[in-house]
Amino acid sequence: MAIIGWVGLGNMGRPMAANLVKAGHTVQGFDVVEAAVTAAAEDGITPAKSIEEAVNGAEIVFTMLPKGEHARSVYLTDGGVLEVASKDTILVDSSTIDFDTARALHDAAREAGYVFLDAPVSGGVTGAAAGTLTFMVGAEDEDFEAAKKYIEPMAGNIFHAGGDAAGQAAKIVNNMMLAISAQGVAEGAVLADRFGLSHETFLNIAKVSSGDSWPLRTWYPVPGVVDTAAANNGFKPGFAVSLMRKDLGLALAGGETQGVPLDAAQLVADKLDKLIDEGWELADTMALIRNIDPEAEGLPKNFS
Ligand code: NAD
Repeated sequence: MAIIGWVGLGNMGRPMAANLVKAGHTVQGFDVVEAAVTAAAEDGITPAKSIEEAVNGAEIVFTMLPKGEHARSVYLTDGGVLEVASKDTILVDSSTIDFDTARALHDAAREAGYVFLDAPVSGGVTGAAAGTLTFMVGAEDEDFEAAKKYIEPMAGNIFHAGGDAAGQAAKIVNNMMLAISAQGVAEGAVLADRFGLSHETFLNIAKVSSGDSWPLRTWYPVPGVVDTAAANNGFKPGFAVSLMRKDLGLALAGGETQGVPLDAAQLVADKLDKLIDEGWELADTMALIRNIDPEAEGLPKNFS
């Protein structure tokens, strides 16, 4: 069993690290928020007081941080991972960050003599707790193989998406398409209703027709139609508006640097910004229906 370093013990990082402990590894965990380190100790994660202490003697280090700026800080600044980890430590960033930062981290790590993988995840906090996350990995073939056994206790699926930043690319594009589909489902649900269709009838038709999509089947934004929908639960997330907006921002940034017009993604980003301006950032993404019908069934008056 290995010594594993962990940086970032938030909503995702703590349960992911806990699954490595359950698999028999020693996990040395650090977070800038001391309370997060103390809480993680309850799951058997060995508290570390600094990045240096977390990576000390580790075969592999995982980082699970909010955004690209945090990942740059943890890897690239004084006292950061690329300064204090041993050169034979495998480095894995599982945060969801922008493509350009992921590329920059690959370049910096390679230059400093490290193996680095970008490995963002899908599956949310329930998947993190259950050890069933989907990992999308950008790495050289042999580095992917070397890291796989450490990822397995946290994963339901592990995909080798390609080389540098390919994991982030897959995650960003997937979530962009999800957001656009979600907007379509919200508009469709309201229009079908106004045309006089029952939601159940419309859903049963669309899910075996060309209008089928994942948010249609799992997030239908009307209470009592689909078991897994946030609409059944006052639009509590689920997948929060703020997180979806963050992920769309990564897609839009990618569109800019790659020269790809992303008109539909921009439109949904604007719709999410409107919800955020009105205090709905912590609501589920399917609160998108509020922009179409503020009186939609199941929507609370306010969200806090
Ligand atoms: P979070 O904010 O709960 O946790 C991030 C942690 O990183 C925090 O505890 C924070 O204190 C810590 N941190 C920030 N800067 C640090 C630094 N310099 N050094 C050490 N620790 C630092 O976020 P989360 O929900 O755990 O998400 C982490 C990443 O996973 C994000 O990129 C997110 O987009 C992605 N993600 C989240 C979900 C989800 O459902 N929450 C699902 C899939 C992917």
